[in-house]
Amino acid sequence: MITKIVKVTEEQIRQDDSKAVHEIRQAGEIIKNGGLVAFPTETVYGLGGDALNPESSGKIYKAKGRPSDNPLIVHISRLEDLNVITEDVPEIGHVLARHFWPGPLTMIFKKSEKVPKETTGGLDTVAVRMPRHRTALALIREAGGFIAAPSANISGRPSPTLAKYVQEDMDGRIDMIIDGGIIEIGLESTIIDLTEEIPIILRPGFITREMLEAVIGTVRIDQTLMDGDSLQIPKAPGMKYRHYAPKGELTIVDGEPDHVADYINNTYHNCHNAGKKVGVIATQENLGRYQADCVKCIGRRQDEEGIAKELYRILREFDDEETEVILSESFHTTGMGQAIMNRLLKAAGHKKIQV
Ligand code: AMP
Ligand code: MG
Repeated sequence: MITKIVKVTEEQIRQDDSKAVHEIRQAGEIIKNGGLVAFPTETVYGLGGDALNPESSGKIYKAKGRPSDNPLIVHISRLEDLNVITEDVPEIGHVLARHFWPGPLTMIFKKSEKVPKETTGGLDTVAVRMPRHRTALALIREAGGFIAAPSANISGRPSPTLAKYVQEDMDGRIDMIIDGGIIEIGLESTIIDLTEEIPIILRPGFITREMLEAVIGTVRIDQTLMDGDSLQIPKAPGMKYRHYAPKGELTIVDGEPDHVADYINNTYHNCHNAGKKVGVIATQENLGRYQADCVKCIGRRQDEEGIAKELYRILREFDDEETEVILSESFHTTGMGQAIMNRLLKAAGHKKIQV
C-alpha cells in the first residue's frame, strides 16, 4: 500500500482554504470507504477509521499491531452525535462535556447497539472524545461523524507528536497521513469512566483530577496507574500493556539533585567502559550536572505543559540515535505531573530508583 502524505495546517482549515478543504474531503472519503487516515489532534497524532465499521477497527488493530482486547476511543465533532453511540449518559457527562469539550477529555459511557464490539474491544462501554483540533473536527465531519482513533504509533512505542514519527511507524500500512505540524499537548487525553457510582480516572492527562473535581465533585483515580507492584489489573484494558516505550533501557532516578547527578554520572562511566551509549533526560535547572553521550533538555521543572510536549519526542530521538541506556530525572505527581509520571513510569516499565 502506498501511503499518501498531505500537509494541512489548522490555520488553513480555519480560513477555509480550498486546497485544504479538498484534502480533508478526500481523507473523509477514504475513511467512509473503510480505509485508514492518520491525523493531528491537540493531544497526539491519531490513526483514524470508521468507528461504526467493524472491518475498519480490525484494520486499525492490524496496522498498529495492537491486541484486539484494547478498545479504541470514538471521536465525534458534534454533541448531538453522542446519543447515537451511547446509552444512559448521566447528567455529569453533560456537565463535563459542556466544560471540557471540545478538548483532551475522554469519557466512558454505556454503548449503544450502533457501536460494534470490534471497536470497544468486546466491552459494553464506549470511550468518547470530542477533540478541539480544527483539522480533526473537519475530518470527523467529512468521514460521517464517528472516527475510532488510537494514537498513530506501532503498539508499545511512544505516541507520535510529529508527522515524521507517524510515517516512521505507519508508512505502507495506512492510506493517508495528514501532516499538521507539531502537536500542542503531546500526551494522550485524560480518560474518565462515568459508568461507575463515583467517576474514576483511568488515565491521567492534561485535564487533571483537580480540574474535574472543581466541576463534578469527588473523582477517584485508578490506583494501578502509578503503582507498578499493584496486583490489580488496570480498569482501562490498554493500561496493562507496556506502553510509550523507547527501545533503550529507561530508568527514572529520584532523589536530591546532587545524588541524582552522582548516580547518573557513575552509571555513565560504567556504561561507557562497557561500550554502551547513555542518554539523560534533564530539566533545564540541572542540565549542567550530567555527563553522558547525550543530555536532552525537557524544559524547566515548573513548566509541566512544556515537559509534556517534549517527552515523547525525546524518547523517539533516543531511538533514532540508538541510545542503549536512558536515565531520566523524576517529576512531581500532582496536577499535570501525574500524567507525565504515569507515561514515564510506563515507558520505564516502572523501573524507578531512589538515590
Ligand atoms: P489510545 O487509543 O492508545 O489512546 O488508548 C485508548 C485507551 O482507552 C486504552 O488504554 C483503552 O484501554 C482505554 N479505553 C478505551 N475504551 C475503553 C472502555 N470502554 N473502557 C475502559 N477503557 C477504555
Ligand atoms: Mg496509544
